[in-house]
Amino acid sequence: MSNSAVRTRFAPSPTGALHLGGARTALYNWLYARHCGGQFFLRIEDTDRERSKDEHCQQIMSMLQWMGMDWDGEVVYQSQRAERHRGIIQELVAQGKAYYCDCPPERLEQLRKEQTAAKLKPRYDRHCRDRGNLPSAQSVIRFKTPLEGDVVVRDSLKGEVCFSSSELDDLVIARADGSATYHLAVVVDDMDAGVTHIIRGDDHLNNTPRQVHILSALGADAPGYTHLPMVLDEDGRKMSKRKDSADMAQYREQGYLPTALMNILARLGWAHGDDELFSVEALIQQFDLSGLNSAASRIDPKKMAWVNQQQMDRVSESEVNAEFDWHCSRLGLNSNALDSSDRNALIEVQRKRCRNVADMATQSRWLLLEDPGMDESAREKFLTPKALAILQELADEMEQADWDAESLANLLSAACERHQVKPGKVAQPLRVAVTGGTVSPSIEDTLVLLGKERAMQRLRNAIPSA
Ligand code: GLU
Repeated sequence: MSNSAVRTRFAPSPTGALHLGGARTALYNWLYARHCGGQFFLRIEDTDRERSKDEHCQQIMSMLQWMGMDWDGEVVYQSQRAERHRGIIQELVAQGKAYYCDCPPERLEQLRKEQTAAKLKPRYDRHCRDRGNLPSAQSVIRFKTPLEGDVVVRDSLKGEVCFSSSELDDLVIARADGSATYHLAVVVDDMDAGVTHIIRGDDHLNNTPRQVHILSALGADAPGYTHLPMVLDEDGRKMSKRKDSADMAQYREQGYLPTALMNILARLGWAHGDDELFSVEALIQQFDLSGLNSAASRIDPKKMAWVNQQQMDRVSESEVNAEFDWHCSRLGLNSNALDSSDRNALIEVQRKRCRNVADMATQSRWLLLEDPGMDESAREKFLTPKALAILQELADEMEQADWDAESLANLLSAACERHQVKPGKVAQPLRVAVTGGTVSPSIEDTLVLLGKERAMQRLRNAIPSA
């Protein structure tokens, strides 16, 4: 198969928000398709009408888009393929590969009890398999699983996994209302889309032999399988079991960049030598199924934060700008109040010093707000009579100064020398005076960003008139 024939898919059930584990599955499918120059599809498996919610569909799609995982063609909604599924089910019945089963629930329950009491694995006893039942309002349709032989699942990570057909049930493929069950729908949809590689969580591994049987009953070849080991939280617990498990939207709110999250997700179960930091292009170029790790991976919040911080100064200007705007608007700050060169200058300074984009926005209030207010405890601590006397003198000099970082820095160090104080003794009171708080870029950058007029006005306001 040529590489460009590779077709992968992400097939989430929209019963919840997109979490880390799901996002990683999506990413590996996307990266593999893009690496090979193939195609990546998105299929929403919304056949569970009760639990599927439109808001989850929207969230999943918007998070994938935000992270930059674009899909090929239209999104496929499994619920809209019901007719196709019914057609296939009828074909299987007509070919004697599936049958109507009208065993009442009481009988199945009794059977289950007997098997459990006898310490046997509960499963259907194939009572209706050869009875030639006709359809009825209560009957379901079961697949005739071969009675003998093995199914070998060739998994790129786990090797050859052998399942004995005799262990498998005659599973229900259509409910009494005629609708297809999960296994049938997945198989038909993957087959119709020509999916060549299925990359999904290893919680699906036990489903695979059943799906391989259905595929072969339909005369289709099995795709390649990769069942990914799970992602564990920092305490080694299964992520999906965590009630507080962070969905991808939360990471955005915490100030993660899309590229950083891709980088982090990619490294949760895949390696390329000892590399830790990847651009999106490098991931696409270097990602391969052979680099996947067969052991479960654990998230490490410290490392995640580190990767994000490293990426702050590496990603494109447009990525940081977009995130900065998003965070500012969440905080009710208008980042477009600045003209574009001032805005770019602010972003350039902040991305180098802040840990994440949320901090960038929070720590830009002093510039984005006309009146950022004054932190009273900072005033008390730093705007002491002695400091105010120095600021008063400095203000007069600054009025005459060229407003660039170098001239301002020279002015400040001359003042420190004159008064025999450490730089912080001048810089910090000045910062409090012009920003209303104690955190901002270097004092020269802060002054330059504010511009002479605003800086001087705030400085004068902070110094009580004699
Ligand atoms: N819809 C299934 C899930 O969300 C995935 C099915 C598959 O990948 O084959 O777990």
